[in-house]
Amino acid sequence: MNDKTPLRELKGVGEKTEKLFQKIGITTTEELLRYYPRTYDVYEEPVEIASAEEEKTVSIRGTITGSLYSNQVRNLQILTTTVADQSGRLPVAWFNAPYLKGTLKKGSVFIFRGKIIRKKGRLQMEHPEIFTPAAYEEVVHSMQPVYALTKGLTNKAITKLVRQVLDTRPLKTEYLPDEIRERYQLADDNFAIRTIHFPGNMQELLTARKRLVFDEFLLFVLAVQLLKEKTEEAPNTFSMKPVWTTEEIIEGLPYELTNAQKNVWHEIERDLSGHKLMSRLVQGDVGSGKTVIAFLSMVLSAENGFQSALMVPTEVLANQHYEGFLKLMEEQNITSCRPVLLTGSATAKQKREIYQKIASGEVNVIIGTHALIQEKVEYKNLSLVITDEQHRFGVRQREALTTRGNPPHVLVMSATPIPRTLAIILYGDLDISIIDELPAKRLPVKNCVVGTSYRPKAYSFIEKQVQTGRQAYVICPMVEESEGLDAENVTDYAKKLQEVLPDEIRVEILHGKMKPKEKDEVMLKFKAGELDVLVSTTVIEVGVDVPNATVMVIENAERFGLSALHQLRGRVGRGAADSCCILISDNENDAVKERLRFLCHTSDGFAVAKYDLENRGPGDFFGSAQHGLPTLRVADLVQDTRTLKVAQEEAKALLAVDPNLAMPQHRALSDEVDRLFATAGAMN
Ligand code: ADP
Ligand code: MG
Repeated sequence: MNDKTPLRELKGVGEKTEKLFQKIGITTTEELLRYYPRTYDVYEEPVEIASAEEEKTVSIRGTITGSLYSNQVRNLQILTTTVADQSGRLPVAWFNAPYLKGTLKKGSVFIFRGKIIRKKGRLQMEHPEIFTPAAYEEVVHSMQPVYALTKGLTNKAITKLVRQVLDTRPLKTEYLPDEIRERYQLADDNFAIRTIHFPGNMQELLTARKRLVFDEFLLFVLAVQLLKEKTEEAPNTFSMKPVWTTEEIIEGLPYELTNAQKNVWHEIERDLSGHKLMSRLVQGDVGSGKTVIAFLSMVLSAENGFQSALMVPTEVLANQHYEGFLKLMEEQNITSCRPVLLTGSATAKQKREIYQKIASGEVNVIIGTHALIQEKVEYKNLSLVITDEQHRFGVRQREALTTRGNPPHVLVMSATPIPRTLAIILYGDLDISIIDELPAKRLPVKNCVVGTSYRPKAYSFIEKQVQTGRQAYVICPMVEESEGLDAENVTDYAKKLQEVLPDEIRVEILHGKMKPKEKDEVMLKFKAGELDVLVSTTVIEVGVDVPNATVMVIENAERFGLSALHQLRGRVGRGAADSCCILISDNENDAVKERLRFLCHTSDGFAVAKYDLENRGPGDFFGSAQHGLPTLRVADLVQDTRTLKVAQEEAKALLAVDPNLAMPQHRALSDEVDRLFATAGAMN
């Protein structure tokens, strides 16, 4: 057996079990061992019946004093009896457990471990585990793993299989250099893996966790740094000379660039004309004006005789950027650029033509979606790749684009303001520029959280705004009605809304299930002011720019993360007019209310992201689908920042001595880094 042994080859794993494990993402022994417990059950000393508290899981040592009753309630067979100790008596019930009949004999003594609940006014213990006193001796004080389950897969089944693998696999050779382990007193890897599943006590668990957290951070940082080394070493084969055209464009814009925009633009200009290849992340809150920076970079590339590509996550956004670029060219008389739009919705014939134009260099500004990284696209002199709203793209996809021909400069634009600790991990391979200034004249968006009873007022507000020539968005979490899910859907909502609003107000829908062409048409009409109200899902979350829209209503606001809500409300407040965002939610949960209230009281994207991180965990940022890097399984970015720092320092020290981890003593470590990326790739 090795790490990659498929589960199926283990004793006791048949086709059915294999499928169940697949559901929770486990196909190999390695993945099984990395499936760490969600929490642990501690088997405490038995308590007296009289002191057993309601709603707690406890162990009691009792004698069966009652007879055994069997009861059938619908398809549930219930066994009940009474147990007693010197402090009192307690009814106990089991469900569908006929096999216990032989065991539960009057007069016998057992340890019962289960939850105390109140039923018809009386306390009872429900469905306890049963141990002989000797068997309980063995587990008392130990911590039993509790795993995240899926239907059909029991905790026992997972526990058993993990134990089997731990007991039969060959031990791994340690890959961390000794001096690092000694410096931070880190446990051995084999111990850590075994103990995270089966800790003997709390101290052991903490020791195991410390090692695993350190490893996760160290490998992560090493992996990212190794990527960076590669790009930094690369010479600039697309050196660009600064040109007048970009200066003229800046002069001719209908607004003045903010200082932050100017600074970032100059950083990029310097990078592109420098000796090394650019790898830069531009972070700026929604509405800070990142698009124009991207356009300027593309013009500079074209003026220097090169191609550039701008890749975005949705067709709606691709279209918007393409139209925006055409408009800029027209208004400013730019002659060096020959743009093209490439998205998945182009017909096969159109695509062939576009590919041909790209390959021949007939076009030099290419704007599109994932379609840009299809194998068939061959670029000519591709000097610069820009990804907008990058958190929607995997790092690997970026790589796919970068590995054709000479590597191009990379510019990443993100509106997800992420705390610095995260930025280092996610984007450690990039230099970071921050646009920390919104255009002047912007009025802050007014926010409120209200219940559904407020809807009539919201609608009449929309009506008034439309009558003054403005437009509105309404966001619903779902596309159409779905069984069992109690949330508003775009399709029905739009109908209802149209009935409530006067006929002359034009309501349309937009969602991800529509054909790309339909989506574009709706979006173009909305932009052109031929529609007044757009009822949409979060497809408009990223990047959409219609400055005339001043109202945003979000239904079932409780269903969205704060960062998503912040992006959504960023769709309004883009022009000079007063805008507002109305969050509608009937949710009574205190944490939810607090979250929404927080959002209303801040307009700072960084503060919002920090709040989300601290209160909901890093899941939003670390879903591996979003960035293509492996997930952190034990490390916690809030709790473990100190370890992160230490791991960063160690990674730096290691690479200073051995930049490619090529020395024999680092071989095992380097393999481990590779393994990390191999699994991350497989998950995408
Ligand atoms: P984001 O950073 O969210 O991508 P955009 O680039 O879409 O923002 O810009 C938002 C809006 O602000 C656009 O309508 C754009 O024309 C406008 N804009 C950009 N820069 C400025 C500026 N310096 N002053 C005024 N308006 C600006
Ligand atoms: Mg944008």
